[in-house]
Amino acid sequence: MPDKAVHAVRKRSRARHLWIFSNEVKAVEGGPETGETVRVYDRGRFIGSGLFNAHSLIAARIYSSANEELDQVLLRQRLERARNLRQEALPEESDWRLAYGESDMLPGLVIDKFGCHFVVQAYSAGMDQRLELVKAALQEVFDVASVFEKDDFRLREPEGLARRERLLWGVPDPGLVIGESGARFRVDVGSGQKTGYYFDHRLTRRKVRQLASGRKVLDVFSYTGSFAVNAALGGAGRVLAVDESAPALSLARENAELNSVADRCEFVAADAFAFLARLARIGERFDLINLDPPAFIKGQKEKAAGLKGYRAINALAMRLLSPGGILVTSSCSHYLFWQEMLDMLALAAQDAGRSFTILDRTTQGPDHPVLLSMPETEYLRGFVLRLT
Ligand code: SAH
Repeated sequence: MPDKAVHAVRKRSRARHLWIFSNEVKAVEGGPETGETVRVYDRGRFIGSGLFNAHSLIAARIYSSANEELDQVLLRQRLERARNLRQEALPEESDWRLAYGESDMLPGLVIDKFGCHFVVQAYSAGMDQRLELVKAALQEVFDVASVFEKDDFRLREPEGLARRERLLWGVPDPGLVIGESGARFRVDVGSGQKTGYYFDHRLTRRKVRQLASGRKVLDVFSYTGSFAVNAALGGAGRVLAVDESAPALSLARENAELNSVADRCEFVAADAFAFLARLARIGERFDLINLDPPAFIKGQKEKAAGLKGYRAINALAMRLLSPGGILVTSSCSHYLFWQEMLDMLALAAQDAGRSFTILDRTTQGPDHPVLLSMPETEYLRGFVLRLT
């Protein structure tokens, strides 16, 4: 490896964290360029190899505890390990998030596997520069039909990277269908949100399916209907789903057809806040409501405004529950921590004038593992509440 190094001093509590922040850096040796690999030292002790960025608040992202390059061989090993972990945790499935960045020791790299079609996102400069190697490593590990880069991503900006979308290899499937717990979903990689499908809520969807039998269900922020379809497959009497995106809902309708539940599902394009308020005014009630809003808090600065949004939409949903009704409520905001979410829900319940018990908690599935030393890798949190 070239003789380039970052010397840092960081708090003892951060000893196993994979990011070196720029304000922890005491010296940079050998003039590394952004994206290059560096050896990383903490208080003079070698701690690993990292991807350097001269312009980011994250000066280096550690990808190995050894002194080694991030080349195709190492990428292949990392991908094989990531694949094995998914196959072990989800033996019935073949579509999952293959690479979840730092949690898979692939800092700034996300890869979703849709059968033999792959969608990649790079949000570190080092990974961005290695996408060709990533593609080649993928081809060594899997039978690959296409690799699409879907970097329309706000996380790229702090790394000094532009937004980008392009086909890296192969021929995408315009009629791509994936499987999850026996359900099937059309995925639109090109124009969909993020990578096209939210694998992260796999366990929450299972719970919704288990709870849905005989219930009248409302799915709020439905996107392509993954929760709505699961509720119907679980035996819901009727499912009403709302999202502001008409294109997402047209895929949701296709998904309902694909799973033979279209007769029990209705999809409405509307603003969720206004729609729920209207349902309350006309006296509609639901036995099970699923609430999966977009991230209202994307950074610490948005916390107060975001909390208001969460509180308002949760209070609206709580008012719509029938006696004994269940609310499955989620947040994908990293900065809304468990206790804060509970406090917010308690306030929403006060607003709604209703009381709840907590039946369960929900979080991201095993293809989005949380790294104990990096709280940033946890972002999906939720509760299953029952109206008392
Ligand atoms: N539940 C979905 C993912 C939801 S992502 C799934 O599991 O696949 C968040 C969704 O909220 C997006 O589809 C977006 O179109 C929608 N959205 C954002 N703001 C909205 C609003 N004010 N009203 C209705 N939908 C909204």
